[in-house]
Amino acid sequence: MKIALIAHDKKKDDMVQFTIAYKHILEKHDLFATGTTGLRIQEATGLKIHRFQSGPLGGDQEIGALVAKNEMDAVFFFRDPLTAQPHEPDVSALIRLCDVYAIPLATNMGTAEILVKGLERGDFTWRNIIHEKN
Ligand code: PGA
Repeated sequence: MKIALIAHDKKKDDMVQFTIAYKHILEKHDLFATGTTGLRIQEATGLKIHRFQSGPLGGDQEIGALVAKNEMDAVFFFRDPLTAQPHEPDVSALIRLCDVYAIPLATNMGTAEILVKGLERGDFTWRNIIHEKN
């Protein structure tokens, strides 16, 4: 599966901890991330990640483009709800596109835990039907 990982600055430590804890699951998938999030994860875990631009420079939109082509299978987006983001429109757009294409999206650690365990358990096999259709 193609998995996107994004974390706002104050959530990056959480994302690093999350990817360390679930490296054994995540390493079986194709990983994508916004620039700084991807770098932090790579440094901490050694996972292979395709890095897009940093979020404020268009990274969220690059990930959104894959969602719009129905190619992204899950998005882990650790948002910071307490800090204003310069690229808020891009953040909203990405979340909106996930809803348009029914892409599983975790915006906090609680949902992320459930989603990643679903990934391990094979709950994402329905996405193969979508890929075959496309
Ligand atoms: P970053 O982007 O990983 O490059 O910091 C994330 C974001 O702020 O959307």
